Amino acid sequence: MKGKNVVITGASAGIGAACAEVFAQNGANLVLTARRIEKLQKNAEALKKSYNVNIHTIQMDVRNYEQVKYEFENLPVEFQKIDVLINNAGKALGIEKIQEGKLDDWEEMIDTNVKGLLYVSKVIMPMLIKQNYGTIINIGSIAGHEVYPGGSVYCATKHAVNAISKGMGMDLNGTNIRVTSIDPGMVETEFSLVRFHGDAERAKNVYNGLEPLTGKDVADIALFVATRPPHVDLREIIVTPTAQASATVVSRK
Ligand code: NAP
Repeated sequence: MKGKNVVITGASAGIGAACAEVFAQNGANLVLTARRIEKLQKNAEALKKSYNVNIHTIQMDVRNYEQVKYEFENLPVEFQKIDVLINNAGKALGIEKIQEGKLDDWEEMIDTNVKGLLYVSKVIMPMLIKQNYGTIINIGSIAGHEVYPGGSVYCATKHAVNAISKGMGMDLNGTNIRVTSIDPGMVETEFSLVRFHGDAERAKNVYNGLEPLTGKDVADIALFVATRPPHVDLREIIVTPTAQASATVVSRK
């Protein structure tokens, strides 16, 4: 990855921050985006110091198409060739049944996970097509393959990501651009804290009695995907903790 440019959305925490570290460790220069710019800058400073790579940080809400378009169309010249895009920004909010669901939570999940991913892709795909190479990694979820009680809207957004990843592969067929969906089960990040609106105890309980995946576990897979020879496209990777057989079948000690 030495000297390659990697764009990561949602790089202020969790899987995105872990991807930033793993790719920087392997010599990649980074464009890191998220809403919490202080966290992003702090991570970037640490990575620059440890790995001597070039990093451009952007405060960006992926729900804002005008902002996404402006920022990616006006990247510093050294970042205008993009080797890898990791569409990672996303979230679950709440675990209510539809009849009890909160509209604000639904809007935010759909706007971030589905429309945000599309906005970023719509702007960056023409840049990749122009250069005729690149790897797009969409962070989906096992929630894109299954549904669990109280998860209907989050699962719907990740089913959408699954469909978009497949469609993207078709839309880019005939180019040298490859598309991969990495679909994890439980990863211990800020995900559950966000889902339960800051209730730390409830968030911690999600991972009780089992060893969840870490952000680094997923980031290592992203690195593997991005470093295959150009003719190899890993279309879809499902990864769970060994203790998790499906969204609802989980063994706890
Ligand atoms: P996380 O620790 O909460 O990180 C989410 C990242 O997304 C943060 O950097 C956050 O940054 C960013 N983000 C959220 N809303 C955004 C917005 N509107 N605009 C820009 N950035 C935004 O959660 P994570 O587990 O790493 O989640 C990353 C991805 O993995 C998500 O797509 C999630 O659905 C998926 N995933 C997670 C799990 C899991 O168990 N953790 C399992 C399967 C799939 P700011 O808040 O600073 O904007």
